[in-house]
Amino acid sequence: MFNKVLIANRGEIALRVIRACREMGIASVAVHSTADSDAMHVRMADEAICIGPPPSAQSYLHIPTIISACEISGADAIHPGYGFLSENAAFVQVVEDHSITFIGPSAEHIRMMGDKITAKETMKALGVPCVPGSDGAVPDVESARRIAGEIGYPVIVKATAGGGGRGMKLARSAAEIDSAFRTARAEAKAAFGNDEVYLEKYLGAPRHIEIQVFGDGKGNAVHLGERDCSLQRRHQKVLEEAPSPAIDTETRARIGATCAEAVARIGYRGAGTIEFLYEDGEFYFIEMNTRLQVEHPVTEAVFGVDLVREQLRVAAGQPLSFSQDELQVGGHAIEVRINAERLPKFTPCPGTVATYHAPGGLGVRMDSALYSGYTIPPYYDSLIAKLIVHGRDRPEALARLRRALGELIIDGVDSSVPLFHALLEQPDVLSGEYNIHWLEKFLEHALAD
Ligand code: ADP
Repeated sequence: MFNKVLIANRGEIALRVIRACREMGIASVAVHSTADSDAMHVRMADEAICIGPPPSAQSYLHIPTIISACEISGADAIHPGYGFLSENAAFVQVVEDHSITFIGPSAEHIRMMGDKITAKETMKALGVPCVPGSDGAVPDVESARRIAGEIGYPVIVKATAGGGGRGMKLARSAAEIDSAFRTARAEAKAAFGNDEVYLEKYLGAPRHIEIQVFGDGKGNAVHLGERDCSLQRRHQKVLEEAPSPAIDTETRARIGATCAEAVARIGYRGAGTIEFLYEDGEFYFIEMNTRLQVEHPVTEAVFGVDLVREQLRVAAGQPLSFSQDELQVGGHAIEVRINAERLPKFTPCPGTVATYHAPGGLGVRMDSALYSGYTIPPYYDSLIAKLIVHGRDRPEALARLRRALGELIIDGVDSSVPLFHALLEQPDVLSGEYNIHWLEKFLEHALAD
């Protein structure tokens, strides 16, 4: 096992990794920008190294400085968390070239899944069901028009390098395809420096269901069921739960086995998430994330496993600590993502947290780097806390979420907490009957001034 792990991240996910390291007797090294000198991950790690000025490009994304920090501190492995460099194949290559272990999959697998067209082709060949669409990249407007006609409207134009819900444009009819194609291309170029796009059938009312997989890099893999992340705003997840209210045991076992087998066959190492849209009983692959997800705690709650510990073990060459048979769903878990944002427009509002009080009690987990007096810097993602509740069943989890939200105090900055109070009043949320468009529709009415 590693002696010392450097965490190339910040915020709650850095704390999450530090905690796993501490329980395993591994020393932790935090890195931070000058804007994060007072951050909780810096205080909690065994060592901390400043890696540059506030902008991420000059600190959390600056590969040479992170490698230097690793060498100076003597860390033998790097955990990337999520976001930042977690899915950067070039970074993984540099890490390995310096004889440091990257806690995650190989550069080759990251590259394969980072390009959505290659990912789709690979998954299709492995027997994973995909959304009908273009075979590969669509080179020009004329081809887009022709292929869209073949697929049938509505279609969605997507960036092959896409992520974070960006570079996606809907065309409801032939009249919209030219502009959707051109806009998606321009957005993709601006956001990812790669204007390659492809077409997919646009599904009208699917749920977003994703399967957690774990491979040992030696051809063995398991799945840890699904997470339902259908409550989204601007293609970004807001609330996630496991198990999905729409998936039964037999369906879970079937799609889970397909996913585990696919990643086993490519010799995948570490945690991964295979994302699907689910409509009328059918799964349609959309993408694979080759890292730990923000919403991993709901899976940890229902399966009673520590996914970060497992990542560390597998990266160190140890076998998976659980077999498929041992992985049984226990109860129900829900996570809400709390952002420093002002409703109703979700405007980011960094600032100083005067008072912070985390909820507690049975079945409540709060993953957050906040503390009273902390100043949230304006440079990074607005996620400030994840509240995860676990109950014996869905009604108990919902009741616990309501209770925990009531105990939570975040004073001094606005947050998205009122949204969750509002959602818990909604019959569709209480019954679990929602799809990926539900939240947008709700927000149009509920939070309008
Ligand atoms: P990103 O990598 O930017 O997160 P994804 O491909 O994972 O992009 O898609 C994000 C979200 O966009 C999905 O959860 C879903 O809400 C919506 N979406 C993507 N593809 C389709 C599709 N073919 N039909 C309908 N909605 C889609």
